[in-house]
Amino acid sequence: MKFPTNSPYHSAAAVLKILSDGGFRALLAGGCVRDMLLSRTPKDYDIATNATPAQVRKLFPNSRLVGAKFGVVLVRRNEHDIEVATFRTDGVYTDGRHPDEVTFGSEQDDARRRDFTINGLFLDPKTEEIIDYVGGRDDIQQGVLRTIGDPDRRFAEDYLRLLRAPRFAARLDFKIEPSTSEAITKLAPNLAHISPERIWMELEELITSRSREKGFHLLVELGLHQHLSPEFSPAKDQCEHIAAVLGKSTGDTIDPAQAVAALLGGLSRSSAQKVCRSLRLSNRITDDALWLLASLAPASQAISLELADFKILMAHRAWPMLTDLFRANLMAKDADLSPHLNLVKRAGTIPENTVTPPPLLPGAALIEMGVVPGPLFGKVLNAVYRAQLNEQIDTPLEAQSLASSLLEQSN
Ligand code: ATP
Ligand code: MG
Repeated sequence: MKFPTNSPYHSAAAVLKILSDGGFRALLAGGCVRDMLLSRTPKDYDIATNATPAQVRKLFPNSRLVGAKFGVVLVRRNEHDIEVATFRTDGVYTDGRHPDEVTFGSEQDDARRRDFTINGLFLDPKTEEIIDYVGGRDDIQQGVLRTIGDPDRRFAEDYLRLLRAPRFAARLDFKIEPSTSEAITKLAPNLAHISPERIWMELEELITSRSREKGFHLLVELGLHQHLSPEFSPAKDQCEHIAAVLGKSTGDTIDPAQAVAALLGGLSRSSAQKVCRSLRLSNRITDDALWLLASLAPASQAISLELADFKILMAHRAWPMLTDLFRANLMAKDADLSPHLNLVKRAGTIPENTVTPPPLLPGAALIEMGVVPGPLFGKVLNAVYRAQLNEQIDTPLEAQSLASSLLEQSN
């Protein structure tokens, strides 16, 4: 593979060389080796070494310890953070989430503690040799995702691996080996033991990435979808629809809010809100996803919607997502696409500078007219602004006289 000289690969190579010149064994490990064998560009390059964290820190002044308990040092190099982890064997997992302790171990131990065979490979940069203690190379060749060792035991150590399996299988278009997939289905309810933040980290990648349609199908096939959140248990045909909406959405990756809206399309607002809360989604994602869900109905009324309401839809930051989600929904239902065309056409007739114009009647002007801030104040201000968006008024004078007549009516 060819990499530009400022690539993370070169940063990792430099770190590997310094470790090796220091007399330590240092290998590329895990996902990056898998991706290089598949001719995919790795997201990041992780290094495994027999140097202890203290020894690593000594060699790299520009480094910091992350998760001291887990023996990982983050080395900063040419603006890239490279994770350097000491070979280790993970200790007992009493909670099915985190190892209680970490013991430094051999290179083999470090391969065997990893989740799937395809993630358990090392690459020695000196010899360019792949070091395979777990049969990962064959599985990469065959396109098979398989746990390292007994699936029941390996999933019980960390139930997050249940979700990692479909994520990797979908992304790489791999088959899940039968005893691995049987174990996933059997153990699926144990997702409840995993923190919502960790679940969302895996789920987000699964439903937003290029392989999101396949990812969601796999989630359903494995029976994992019912255990993501207590409020979320879509029926079979709804699952089909969700997968299709994800698939029809445009873009290599999609915004998480759009993906969440696709996921929660069949729910009431309050249930959707509960799911967002249970997954601890950010306010941004929650607000946009709920807005998207609430705006699908008005979007379908594109032609008859009052101009002000249409402009208010267009003014929202998630508007581009709304048009895409609306189209994907129609496509997923095999429905006529003319409602989408109407939506986009009408938007095209509205000049950008009229979507959120500065108000003809600002609050200060209403105060000057002698109105005190309060419920009526807000009501009048809003009504005048709507009239402006509706293009019923277009001068400050007209705005003031409208405000006056509204105030009179309210007396
Ligand atoms: P990605 O390209 O999505 O980053 P990755 O394989 O690099 O995929 P990471 O989550 O970054 O995955 O983890 C790096 C490596 O650490 C994995 O390849 C795997 O060897 C190991 N690993 C990560 N999470 C777990 C886990 N929950 N259980 C066991 N091993 C894990
Ligand atoms: Mg990674």
